[in-house]
Amino acid sequence: MNNIVEVTNLTKNYNNQIAVDNISFEVKKGEILGLLGPNGAGKSTTINILATVLSPSNGKIMILNYDLKKDVKQIKQVIGIVPQDLAIYEEISAEKNIRFFAGLYNLKGKELEKRVREALELVQLYDRKDDKPKTFSGGMKRRLNIACGIVHHPSLIIMDEPTVGIDPQSRNHILESIKTLKSNGATVIYSTHYMEEVEAISDRIIIMNEGKIIAQGTKEELKQNTNDEITYTFQLSINENLNCALIDEIEGVTRVNLNKETLEVTVEQSKDNLSNIIMALTKQGCKIQNMNSKKASLETVFLELTGRSLRD
Ligand code: ADP
Ligand code: MG
Repeated sequence: MNNIVEVTNLTKNYNNQIAVDNISFEVKKGEILGLLGPNGAGKSTTINILATVLSPSNGKIMILNYDLKKDVKQIKQVIGIVPQDLAIYEEISAEKNIRFFAGLYNLKGKELEKRVREALELVQLYDRKDDKPKTFSGGMKRRLNIACGIVHHPSLIIMDEPTVGIDPQSRNHILESIKTLKSNGATVIYSTHYMEEVEAISDRIIIMNEGKIIAQGTKEELKQNTNDEITYTFQLSINENLNCALIDEIEGVTRVNLNKETLEVTVEQSKDNLSNIIMALTKQGCKIQNMNSKKASLETVFLELTGRSLRD
């Protein structure tokens, strides 16, 4: 079995509103799949359906060859869920929290002890195991939330925005722990609206917007669709005479945009045309004060696909 998850034509309506609009995708064994999209894209709805918490309006979902319509019990045993809203008990110790969740999966005796310790170590909370979450930072609570979701060694781990609103150190801990879970053999689906994160840890990325999948692939594949562009931004001190048309006609230039002293020129990366642009500028009497360049990122991909930025 190569695909751990197969989703076909999944739709979810809330009353009259379509939250997830006829999406299909698969998740391959052993991969980290990043589900990227802005707020309201439909990530949590999709994840909660996979997690058997919500039922779909339409579509077919297979998880580890179990049919979500019929085999909910079996699916619950093999998946681990880390919800967007924390699901931990503030008033009992971190260790007892993990024991509670392990108990839901009938773990007992030595095996239970081992798993609880491993889970605490994975999220680097072993030294705080006896403390109550109410004394924890937001990032530590998120880490505990993860430990509770994975203590039963699920084959498929589903995490919904596990790094939202936390300190950079906890975020790094969490990204590291996701990589560790993968190297221990788990498959991970992980949603976020931070594109740097999916760039850093995902093997494959699905970009969602307004309930639809608008692109999917490895980050290299996604960026290929942006024609491998690079954008140079020049700060000019003198530009009265600048004729943008002369820049536009340089080979490889795809876009020129002048706004007061700031000139943006987008070019195809394969052609080395920076020196031609600089020559054209100086020939026209422009003085360049500063310049920087930006390669296509997932942000660019998103912008091109939707016409708006990910953080809108
Ligand atoms: P994301 O997790 O990507 O932010 P959600 O799946 O939470 O997106 O939401 C997708 C859309 O569905 C949004 O427009 C949201 O307002 C709507 N929605 C989510 N949950 C509910 C609900 N329980 N009732 C009605 N509408 C909802
Ligand atoms: Mg969400």
